[in-house]
Amino acid sequence: MIDFGPPAELPASGRPADDVLGELEGMRSGDVDWRAGRSFGLVFHAGDEVEAVARAASVMYLEENGLNPLAFPSLGRMQQDVVDMASGMFHGRDDGRQAAGFMTSGGTESLLLAVEAARNRGRDERGVTEPEMVVARSAHAAFHKAGGYFGVKVNVVPVRDDWRVDVDAMASAVNDRTVLVVGSAPQYPQGVIDPIPEIASLAAERGINCHVDACMGGFVLPFMEDLGYDLPPWDFRVEGVTSISADVHKLGYAPKGASVLIHRDVTLRNHHVFMFDDWLGGFYASSGLAGSKPAGPMAAAWAVMNLIGRDGYRRLTATTIEATRRMIDGVRSTPGLTVLGEPQAQCVAISAAEGATVDVFAVMDELATKGWHLDRQKPPDSLHATVSAGTAPAVDDFVADLRAAVEKVGDRRTEDRSTDYAPIDPSS
Ligand SMILES: *Cc1c(COP(=O)(O)O)cnc(C)c1O
Repeated sequence: MIDFGPPAELPASGRPADDVLGELEGMRSGDVDWRAGRSFGLVFHAGDEVEAVARAASVMYLEENGLNPLAFPSLGRMQQDVVDMASGMFHGRDDGRQAAGFMTSGGTESLLLAVEAARNRGRDERGVTEPEMVVARSAHAAFHKAGGYFGVKVNVVPVRDDWRVDVDAMASAVNDRTVLVVGSAPQYPQGVIDPIPEIASLAAERGINCHVDACMGGFVLPFMEDLGYDLPPWDFRVEGVTSISADVHKLGYAPKGASVLIHRDVTLRNHHVFMFDDWLGGFYASSGLAGSKPAGPMAAAWAVMNLIGRDGYRRLTATTIEATRRMIDGVRSTPGLTVLGEPQAQCVAISAAEGATVDVFAVMDELATKGWHLDRQKPPDSLHATVSAGTAPAVDDFVADLRAAVEKVGDRRTEDRSTDYAPIDPSS
């Protein structure tokens, strides 16, 4: 992968501040240029003002510790506010519902805790000792991570031709040990919304959990609804949905380290909370994986959500969805290419059209030379784009470069079939 040179050693004596910061500045020059709107993923940018406020809030809380909300009531309050705002967005407080949740460090932690909560509920309410969950092939990799971490067997069911989970297969995979069924709104790979009402009714019939992974959609779908887009039901208005995850650090436009996990009620929420008293250090409760917890991302998420507000998110969503639809049209009108399925929000999978010989991975190599960043994913071989307000202005340039890259690549294939959503070098 990347050769970082000889291993670093702790400097024998400390280096001057200018030197240290200067080296950091220099190191960034090889990183993806998200400011130019060329990264369809990883960084989601809503403009200079949002960035400045997020930066100021993070720096204000750089040193505080979210571990103890009694020592830092301001952090307890911020967490409550962020959770309440998100609960309202997902209709968690309509019709007497009392949704409750916590902030987490990101989508993965939200999913880990959703699985842990389901496992604990199955154990405590139904005596399930060998828990299982049922997820679609399209469900995020973090569910498999959670299965490994918490000892929950993952039963994977296929998606249909439209890339939505096959609910009949899901129903057949549910058994006495099942503690959780999962749907995504939208799923990451092709950007379609799973049939949440059908999935949730499987859960409701059995008294088990149904988690909706809205890590991508949580800060988009509510505002698409405001804008009049036609969307299937996916949030707490659907009977049987027990929890929803949404990433503030994606299309909520907060900097990394902020997501929410919201449960339908406080009893469901308490299944994921850890509490312990039987050691020499005193009462220790925590709502997530971390002990000591960075406060900067909490403050930044609070500040960004308050700064943007419902009208702001509606504008950012309009920009994002219009750009996504332009990208879809641009890809589909490029000979040799298509978009998989009918993406409903901001995620798009670009692949070879049926019968076409173009290798989208070779096309990506070409696009990378122009500074574009999209993930390679499979199966099937495709390029993943998450469009956001920051990349919207670059979409027309992207489509032009994509078209040129397809022409240049012709029938050439690249040997490298690796994919790269989250790579790691196993040799270092
Ligand atoms: C991004 C994403 C996740 C994981 O979120 P992280 O913040 O990267 O940990 C989970 N599910 C979906 C659908 C996602 O898009």
